[in-house]
Amino acid sequence: MTSILQAVSCMDDYDPNALPVARAQQIVASLVEPVIGTERLFVRNALGRVLAQDVISPIDVPAHDNSAMDGFGLRAADLDANAETALQVIGTSFAGRPFASDIAVGQAVRIMTGGVLPPSVDTVVIQEVSRTEGDRLWVPPGQKPGQNTRRAGEDLRAGTPALAAGRRLVPADIGLIASLGIAEVTVRRRVRVAFFSTGDELVSLGQQPAEGQIFDSNRYTIYAMLAQFGVDIIDMGVVPDEPARLEAAFREAIEQADAIITSGGVSVGEADFIKQLMATLGEVLFWKIAMKPGRPMAFGRIASGNQSAFLFGLPGNPVAVMVTFYQFVRDALHRMAGVSPLLPVPLLPATCASNLKKAPGRTEFQRGVLFQDNGKWHVRLTGAQGSGILRSMSEANCFIVLEHERANIQAGDIVQVQLMEGLA
Ligand code: AMP
Ligand code: MG
Repeated sequence: MTSILQAVSCMDDYDPNALPVARAQQIVASLVEPVIGTERLFVRNALGRVLAQDVISPIDVPAHDNSAMDGFGLRAADLDANAETALQVIGTSFAGRPFASDIAVGQAVRIMTGGVLPPSVDTVVIQEVSRTEGDRLWVPPGQKPGQNTRRAGEDLRAGTPALAAGRRLVPADIGLIASLGIAEVTVRRRVRVAFFSTGDELVSLGQQPAEGQIFDSNRYTIYAMLAQFGVDIIDMGVVPDEPARLEAAFREAIEQADAIITSGGVSVGEADFIKQLMATLGEVLFWKIAMKPGRPMAFGRIASGNQSAFLFGLPGNPVAVMVTFYQFVRDALHRMAGVSPLLPVPLLPATCASNLKKAPGRTEFQRGVLFQDNGKWHVRLTGAQGSGILRSMSEANCFIVLEHERANIQAGDIVQVQLMEGLA
């Protein structure tokens, strides 16, 4: 295992107090590792799971030479290049019900889409261009040898990979695997993620907040983001700001999980003991990231006994939790799940509908509403952007991603947005 502290000490431009977003993403990406362990699943239960092995096709696809159209199967050599050719139709090849024998010189078969080509048939003429009368068929000149046929193995050869290890299975993959006659696949086990909220001010749903207390919302947001993501979820509740309780929670989490997500307790104003505690349990980096919202964050690997887990200490502010989750934890969880290659969340250019305040030197993730006007994409702000205002997230359908170096935005400027729909 790479030592996290050593790894960053070798980076010449590493400044934990002003870390650009892209740099923090790189560091996380270079240090997290895929979980070990696989399971066999029935293909239908494997949606969203990550292949641990290539899926090798046991068959040629298509399995037989067959027709791509409804028409007539014939021998190209029989056709007159300059005049209509008359042929005799001697039978039919239906999809799933092949013609039982072969054609001879001057003969043809009626053939349906997917129908197997009899051995001597190399070309299909569509029925719309041909003329028939009884068993007579007239084919016009100008047909191309081999036209309208599909050759055995032209999509996929038996013995070659249909899907590569690292693929996160989407609906099309499930169908593709089934089309090969494969009923089970080997996938990596799910990543196990434990999470808890820290803070004396927090109460869970069902409890009565006392004076000055608030409902814990981060744990519910994190739960929902993880559920959408498809990991095993271990909800450890609210842990008060007490060293002994926190240490016990961390140790319990390390024993059960591959990754631990906490919220709160990493900002400058927080009692230092949470940070100290995280640091005594392993190798933890404390960052002030050049971003808004979501400046403070901890990342590292902590251990208890012979177990260890990656730690993501997210800020306490509800919007900052979501932004840091999507920008840092999402990628890390994909990597831990074994997804490869891993693509970044796509950015879509849109015309900004209003002026935006932006200071150069940090990446901002403002909450936006993407909408269409005259067939073009535009984006507007959701309103107040305070990092405690969860409603701004709920109203938004995208992040407006304002790049590190960028300054104020004028209405009409192009900005990049990241859609929240499907962000998992
Ligand atoms: P902290 O990072 O712990 O200083 O928290 C920053 C702000 O986020 C404070 O106003 C906290 O009350 C608030 N906060 C922290 N944790 C949560 C939580 N789980 N749910 C809602 N708000 C929280
Ligand atoms: Mg706190």
